[in-house]
Amino acid sequence: MAQGLSFGFTTKMTRVRILCCSVETLGKHQRTTALYLDIEEHQWPIIYSSQYNISFLGLEKLHPFDSCKWSRIYNFLKEAGMVKDSTIVQPLEAQKNDLLSVHSQRYINCLKWSIKVAGITEVPPVALLPNFIVQWRVLRPFRFHTGGTVLAAKLALERGWAINLGGGFHHCSATRGGGFCAYADITIAITLLFDHMPSVTKVMIIDLDAHQGNGYERDFMEDSRVYILDMFNRQIYPHDGYAKRSIKRKVELMSDVGDTQYLALVRRHVEAALKEFPPDLIVYNAGTDVLHGDRLGHLSLSPQGVIERDQIVFQKARTRNIPIMMLTSGGYQSNNARVIADSILNLHSQRLITCDSAESYADNGRPGGISESQSDGHLMARQKAANNSMNNTGSPEDGQLWNRRNPPNNSMSHSQTQQQFPTPDT
Ligand SMILES: [Zn+2]
Repeated sequence: MAQGLSFGFTTKMTRVRILCCSVETLGKHQRTTALYLDIEEHQWPIIYSSQYNISFLGLEKLHPFDSCKWSRIYNFLKEAGMVKDSTIVQPLEAQKNDLLSVHSQRYINCLKWSIKVAGITEVPPVALLPNFIVQWRVLRPFRFHTGGTVLAAKLALERGWAINLGGGFHHCSATRGGGFCAYADITIAITLLFDHMPSVTKVMIIDLDAHQGNGYERDFMEDSRVYILDMFNRQIYPHDGYAKRSIKRKVELMSDVGDTQYLALVRRHVEAALKEFPPDLIVYNAGTDVLHGDRLGHLSLSPQGVIERDQIVFQKARTRNIPIMMLTSGGYQSNNARVIADSILNLHSQRLITCDSAESYADNGRPGGISESQSDGHLMARQKAANNSMNNTGSPEDGQLWNRRNPPNNSMSHSQTQQQFPTPDT
């Protein structure tokens, strides 16, 4: 392994250290990255950029899928007083060298054709746009998501956990995009990790999105360093039989599986997988298209079921001191952002994710104070944590879930989900 050389400079948001690895030629490309930012003690390892959100020049207003769900997750977390602009981490955009660590030049070149991107994103009008607009409005956001996923891997190793509020493009492989996935962010993050972090030799992917993660499965087909647990609806896209050969623990579901059966399977298979293959890092692809009413996922989980699912996975990882990074992946109904935010707030209430410095950080740089505008939500979040702590008399496995007073309405009518364009399959 080549030795690294680091140097730094300071920005307003975060001190940036560019990890500048000496030349290491792996086949045809040099693997270097500037995506591994160092963060301050008062920052949560929660990653989000306003650049994540996709705008099709007004077309998104006609489009029923929530292409701004990432900003909505973030705003819900802010409203709850858990985070603020100065305590989250903004990623950098993945650059060509990052993408080429996994993708072929030929694949990158094909994205210069708008019609190709239209096929990958499953949004036909994209084919009509000049490619420079597609690059700026569609692909650039995906590159920020990818930068966030790469950074999440590094921060999970440092802090024990990290959450990218976006990412999880699990249908994209090194050579082929699809299902709304233009870049193989999971493969890129793991590949760069193996390159830059010699202590990481084994990674487990736990993919609980409703769809099979065929992209990274193809990429890690012969790689014994990566253990894949994939639980998905076998009756929906992508039906990739070849990619299934890469899955070490395959849990195939039929449509309409509900909370009880689903959660029992999660408990059993995550536990068994971790006994079989204790990893140095867990990549948790936490798609919420498992929710009841999702016209692509065709499963039937309740919002509380999703919250409990995420809690189970984090408990399994955290009680074993295995670093875990979470990606939000698929699920683009109007209520997904609310459920994801509630799940993250629940993880916080359960003390499965903590950052004491962030919770007491004031914008004047001194710990201990919070602004008046933040105080209500902040106190609410802390009160919920306290209540849960009081109720939680058993093991972490028995922890009380945080029940919202007004759980999100998950019963979207079919007419609400009718769409003008196909929705993403992630
Ligand atoms: Zn999906």
